[in-house]
Amino acid sequence: ARKGKTPEEVVKRYLQKVRNPPEEDCTICMEALAGPSGYKGPGVGGISRAESVGRLVQCGHQYHLQCLVAMYNNGNKDGSLQCPTCKTIHGVKTGNQPPGKMEYHVIPHSLPGHPDCKTIRIIYNIPPGIQGPEHSNPGKPFTARGFPRHCYLPDSEKGRKVLRLLLVAWDRRLIFSVGTSSTTGESDTVIWNEVHHKTEFGSNLTGHGYPDPGHLDNVLEELKAQGITEEECLP
Ligand code: NAD
Ligand code: ZN
Ligand code: ZN
Repeated sequence: ARKGKTPEEVVKRYLQKVRNPPEEDCTICMEALAGPSGYKGPGVGGISRAESVGRLVQCGHQYHLQCLVAMYNNGNKDGSLQCPTCKTIHGVKTGNQPPGKMEYHVIPHSLPGHPDCKTIRIIYNIPPGIQGPEHSNPGKPFTARGFPRHCYLPDSEKGRKVLRLLLVAWDRRLIFSVGTSSTTGESDTVIWNEVHHKTEFGSNLTGHGYPDPGHLDNVLEELKAQGITEEECLP
């Protein structure tokens, strides 16, 4: 129970009560909102019938309270809640990236496809360590291959915006995760999370280099899916 709140308390923070549920199904359990939750698993027994349906405050989608609590319990329980229908994130989503360092500087070269500006090089460094309670195998060591990892962005207005958002993503531990590498098959290792990076300067044979005209917009979309937008990081 992060921040001392139970899963039910976390979920309720993002809900308004619905006194008269509409004649629709809950899209988590596929049962009528006006009836009981179809969820039969553990951890939701104490939730009373009187407050059984809630409306998410930001997007308005409605679910059984028990279904949302069960969904929250199946996630990484970071105090945030993502609407399963429209993906709106309530609260601040954080990840399980292990400790490390993110640095960046400008280098005086132009990336293929960005001839009019210099280049931002980001350097991520994460050492191997021991998995914490937020990882899938707490107490077990994890490896960290190929660090420092170098990544490139054009030093343009949009590139600098992506950098600002990546710095927020780093603080929220969303750039890397610990798991099984899809490239190498190694388990219990540091892997990229859901925000794509260009680790090659030129030569885009692998998909990890430039030119790639859609790259910055793709990254902005991926950051948005993690709840990180420009509005988030204004002072
Ligand atoms: P992964 O293979 O599980 O993939 C996760 C995501 O990262 C996927 O979306 C994938 O497309 C992307 N990705 C994979 N390789 C990438 C790369 N080189 N550059 C940018 N994005 C990449 O994630 P992973 O295991 O963290 O990535 C594998 C990469 O890790 C290798 O290509 C290499 O850069 C590095 N690595 C280096 C060594 C080494 O000893 N030098 C060993 C293992 C891995
Ligand atoms: Zn339900
Ligand atoms: Zn929604």
